[in-house]
Amino acid sequence: MLKLFSWLLAVCLVFGGRAQNSWVIADVNVIPMDRDTVLKHRDVYIQKGIIISMVKHGAGLPKTIPVINASGKYLMPGLVDMHVHLPDGSEPIGMRQVFDMYLQCGVTGLRSMRGEAFHPALRDSIEAGYIKAPNLYISSSLPFKDSLLSNEAIAAFIDTIKTRRYDFIKYLGGIGEERMAKIVGLCRQEHIAIAGHAYKDLQGSIRYGFRSVEHIGPLANAYKKDSLNIASLLDSMVERNITFCPTASWSMIVGFQYSEEQLHSRYGMNRIDTALMHAWDRSFSDYKTRWQKSGEERRKEYAAKTALDMTRLAAIIKLMQQKGVNVVLSPDNAMYNVPGYAMYEEMKIYQSLGMSPYQVLRAATHNAAVFFDQSKWWGSVSAGKNADLVLLDKNPLGNLENIKTVNTTLVHGQILYRKKK
Ligand SMILES: [Zn+2]
Repeated sequence: MLKLFSWLLAVCLVFGGRAQNSWVIADVNVIPMDRDTVLKHRDVYIQKGIIISMVKHGAGLPKTIPVINASGKYLMPGLVDMHVHLPDGSEPIGMRQVFDMYLQCGVTGLRSMRGEAFHPALRDSIEAGYIKAPNLYISSSLPFKDSLLSNEAIAAFIDTIKTRRYDFIKYLGGIGEERMAKIVGLCRQEHIAIAGHAYKDLQGSIRYGFRSVEHIGPLANAYKKDSLNIASLLDSMVERNITFCPTASWSMIVGFQYSEEQLHSRYGMNRIDTALMHAWDRSFSDYKTRWQKSGEERRKEYAAKTALDMTRLAAIIKLMQQKGVNVVLSPDNAMYNVPGYAMYEEMKIYQSLGMSPYQVLRAATHNAAVFFDQSKWWGSVSAGKNADLVLLDKNPLGNLENIKTVNTTLVHGQILYRKKK
């Protein structure tokens, strides 16, 4: 912990305050993401981190604002990784390295799940411009054990959420109905959102009005139990404004859906150092051995179940698109999920489930803002929105793989990453 604080301090001393955040991005093709279209040849005016206007190219550029010539390039809202576990010292990768990787991939927002006590300070330092990083949304998790939650403990927990400005509470599991009902009641009064693992099952999360349901399990299980009832459950999700974050990459990795060769050639694997690669190889081999101890047959059954869950997920996602369930995107934290880069791996899975490039990119941008109830402020490119943007060399709507062609990443109008020429 001390190490992390001294790291924060060091970064604060190096940077210190926001830099240039007013630009004209000239002659750019805009992918607004509030509709499926490309607005060709626009000049996008950004002033103090906010998009002021967007006009046809050549209407007259102001002399006072620096120009970024973006002819032939594509501008879209920055991506948001919606299920992040920031480094906690258990792996040989540092916070600075992780933030840089996100920025290299055009990620301008992170939703941290299961936060550490220093995360509010980290978020505040990013907000103040002391640390170059994507916007950070933070959570604190409810204790896992019912017995740890006396009335006083619940009150103290909720108080911490408010005073330290956590964005939401992460639910992990282990809380009985009586206490859960009490917590949910208090959170409603205080306008605090709860998100995370399902409360026992999908119905439990719907009943308690969780803001999001994480991972494939709850949806796949509900589908398995009664595939005819799934449509009405999805209607309830829409009604109660509940977001779904499948973290399919995580399921595929831990569910043995990739060969070792495939794991090692995932996007971004050539960007990590050998220490991390070895740590992941060791963790994965230990994990596999643990399964094999209870029998190779059981491991194979688990792999088959994961494959089946993925086919269920395809049916569920299709129905979600029809009904308008808010689906967001994250690969989650797992061995071989390279921060930022694994967003593309998750996108590939979404596409294989039948989503169009526009639907995939919307899940990674606009829908994240919908989760936070902030789509008025960010998640699309239009006047009045925050300039959290990614400039790409090629059009990702035509081919999702072009999301790899990140040229420049801006957070609140500040250039935090620029591809080397
Ligand atoms: Zn997670």
